[in-house]
Amino acid sequence: ADDVALDPWGSSTVSDYEKLFTEFGIESFDDVIDEVPNPHYLMRRAIIFGHRDYRRVLDAMRNDEPFAALSGFMPTGDPHIGHKMVFDEIIWHQEQGGDAYALIADLEAHSARGLSWAEIDEHARDYLLSLLALGFDPEEGELYRQSENREVQDLAFELGIEANFSEFEGIYGFDGETDVSHMQSVVTQMADILYPQLEEPKPTVIPVGPDQDPHVRFARDLASRVGYFRVTEAYASFEVDDDERALLADAYDALDTDDDTVRCEDAATWLAAQDAKDVPDPAGVRDDLEAKLASAGKEPLRPRVRFLDRNASEEAFEALIESVEGEKRVYDEHVDAFDLDRDEAEDLARDVAVAHGGYGFLPPSSIYHRFMTGLTGGKMSSSIPASHISLLDDPEDGYDKVKAATTGGRTSAEEQREKGGRPDQCPVYELYAYLLASDDDAFAERVYEECRNGERLCGDCKEQAAELMREFLEDHQEKRDEVEGLLEETDLTLES
Ligand code: SF4
Repeated sequence: ADDVALDPWGSSTVSDYEKLFTEFGIESFDDVIDEVPNPHYLMRRAIIFGHRDYRRVLDAMRNDEPFAALSGFMPTGDPHIGHKMVFDEIIWHQEQGGDAYALIADLEAHSARGLSWAEIDEHARDYLLSLLALGFDPEEGELYRQSENREVQDLAFELGIEANFSEFEGIYGFDGETDVSHMQSVVTQMADILYPQLEEPKPTVIPVGPDQDPHVRFARDLASRVGYFRVTEAYASFEVDDDERALLADAYDALDTDDDTVRCEDAATWLAAQDAKDVPDPAGVRDDLEAKLASAGKEPLRPRVRFLDRNASEEAFEALIESVEGEKRVYDEHVDAFDLDRDEAEDLARDVAVAHGGYGFLPPSSIYHRFMTGLTGGKMSSSIPASHISLLDDPEDGYDKVKAATTGGRTSAEEQREKGGRPDQCPVYELYAYLLASDDDAFAERVYEECRNGERLCGDCKEQAAELMREFLEDHQEKRDEVEGLLEETDLTLES
């Protein structure tokens, strides 16, 4: 199938990565690899193949500015070697100086997958032990469970105000049968993604498989929705007639464009129209509105003033805010002030948003890794034990699974010597590239070349891979035992 279906909860395979570039706007990692200081082997081997807006993170990395990396793990089974990639990505970003976050998506596991809390605790412990064993530093980074993070819950609630059911339908295919907790787990996940920026906006990368891209896109969208003032929002509560409401809506749509051009004219038009329509003095209207809100027992207007339009100049923002706050009229003075480029306007918007108690989130960035092929062919799946190697597998079982794996070899040794093997279609070669060759590029390349030119035969190749796998598992499990104490020192509640 050449369909690219992106379903975070489905079992879709993404067979055509190219389409992700053309249809979904994921950019090729090739374009940024040269800007990565000290790239991870998953990047060097193009296993990490795509990104959204990762330059933002790289700039911060190179300039010693704050950045963050976050990933969530849904504890639905044993962590396996596919999860190890994500662990490695988080740890690598931590080693490059980023604030690293790893969270246990327990609400999602409970609502979307129906796991019991006891099962979740058990699996969560296993994920975390592997993450720590692979080198995550819990002193520098942060580990949390969704259900225990009050700030995430509060942020999720705020984001939920900006999200509506039609979007859930459009993005995730939710329908009338979808339970409310599943929807809640989505806004919680959006809050997870933005959580590293709660104290201050900073570039944040979310390493994911491409099936998780809908979450990334939605989070990017929500980030800018709650990040900027909407010119119209503060005025929307004022008593306006239908014509004016329509005008405001048009102005808003124009301002909220993804178009790279700053739409100054639209803001100017709107402001001029305000003037022409002789809208009452904002100071007076505001007082009036505040009085009405107060008598209705509602929140004052001020806390709502936390979004800034992304396209306006700093002066215009300040003036608009001041006008909403009843201090100053803006119409004539500032209509000419909209001449910033998009980035400048966004930065200013963010600063002013933060100064006014808003969020100022940067849209989160993401990097995408390929899925490992299952050892039995097809997708590696937690629910098919022979298809994957769990990080908890007995090392002997790991050895046996590799020995039993399908390969990209030919039907006979003779044919293989003559035509060469097909490492690109071989799950065993993937094991070398994704895991067993570790940082040793020369070794991974040697396996590839020897296979291609027929020097390497599958029996020996699998024997070597199986032995390396056994060693890896022995070593990893020993380290897991060693970090038990570290896990106890975190303040996570995990029943054992
Ligand atoms: Fe795969 Fe190794 Fe056989 Fe090549 S020689 S097809 S890499 S198992």
